Amino acid sequence: MFTSDGCEMTDQAKQNRRNFVTSMMGGSLAAAAAAGLPAAEAQAESLPPEGLSADDAMAHYWNKPLSELVDIGPYNATPAEMERHRVYANLVLALLHGYFNGNKDGETGEYPWQPSQRIAGTGTQSLYAGGRYLGHNICCIAVDGDGDIIDFDFNHNSIFNSSVEHAEARLIKRIFSLADIHQDWDSALGTDDRWNLSPAGEKAPMRGQMDDDYGKSLSSVTIYTSLESCAQCSGIMTLANIKQVVFLQPDPSQYMIGKIMYRLSRKAGETGGPGAPRPISAAEVGIAASQRLADDYKSFQAKVGTGPGKIPFHKPAGSDADPAQWSGSASITSFLCSDLALASYASGREALDAMALAHPDFRPEGQGMLSNAEVLGQVRHFLNYALTEGRRGTPHR
Ligand SMILES: [Zn+2]
Repeated sequence: MFTSDGCEMTDQAKQNRRNFVTSMMGGSLAAAAAAGLPAAEAQAESLPPEGLSADDAMAHYWNKPLSELVDIGPYNATPAEMERHRVYANLVLALLHGYFNGNKDGETGEYPWQPSQRIAGTGTQSLYAGGRYLGHNICCIAVDGDGDIIDFDFNHNSIFNSSVEHAEARLIKRIFSLADIHQDWDSALGTDDRWNLSPAGEKAPMRGQMDDDYGKSLSSVTIYTSLESCAQCSGIMTLANIKQVVFLQPDPSQYMIGKIMYRLSRKAGETGGPGAPRPISAAEVGIAASQRLADDYKSFQAKVGTGPGKIPFHKPAGSDADPAQWSGSASITSFLCSDLALASYASGREALDAMALAHPDFRPEGQGMLSNAEVLGQVRHFLNYALTEGRRGTPHR
């Protein structure tokens, strides 16, 4: 630490200063000035909570700018590992495409941002494909330490009339309950392939062979989700010790809470071990739809609205002459109903169908790891299962 004139402070001076600043906290800045400390300096200097060691991230970042806290650095992986991520990320896009529903404000009326979804009628007397809206077009999958897909889930806020039925939170709770009853999606195949949840190499026990520890930590598990996670889901993933979370679209409204938690939940400078999962943008692993979703959302936000020159999100049936009834919602969940989002989801489905692997034989080190070719095979099989039997994840709460 340096004083304002550039001299390094002695330990005793530091302690005196800390004691002084502590005494100023909650006191008046005039008192600081009277004591000879510039008010601005007294304001800028603040102490982290007691009981933290110096290498605790909370202490380390306490007086640093927010930009430093949220900068978790680039994601480093080999081309083969990146390819593996892309297979799973494309599965999420394909699931969204398969279960797409843009009827956020009902099946009727007019949605000017989603002409491709109109199945009958014209203007505000239109009917849109998809049926009843169960929740937002947000989906995630969980992959175990071997590369096996555990399950998928969607946002179901609408069906439960709740704002917290998010895909990631639902899926984590689903995994714990699945581990409890051992009811995995591929049991119909006759395989005895128990999930590698935590740590690498240890399988979740079969039913009747459970111990007390297996289900409490999912530190081998990766979540692939379509939208950057909120505080609730980041919290649940942290409590579950999820290893990493790959997200397809940034959500500027969620204040980078996942990155903040990743930083603060471990010692300064540490990148592994227990703590919040590392957020990884799908753009960093080469998913082109990721940047496109971000760009299209910005464009949507700039143009959607009910005022002059704006394009409404929804006009209820028969409301043509009454703009007061129109919705100009610019929320990200409204964007996720648009043809723009649907086109990006379709690109994932197309990429998955056409995917030719550059690293088919790559498998991460460790027993039981699937190769990239085996991952792609399983992903295609899972997509077929999920779209025919998965019921958008609704069988489970
Ligand atoms: Zn969430």
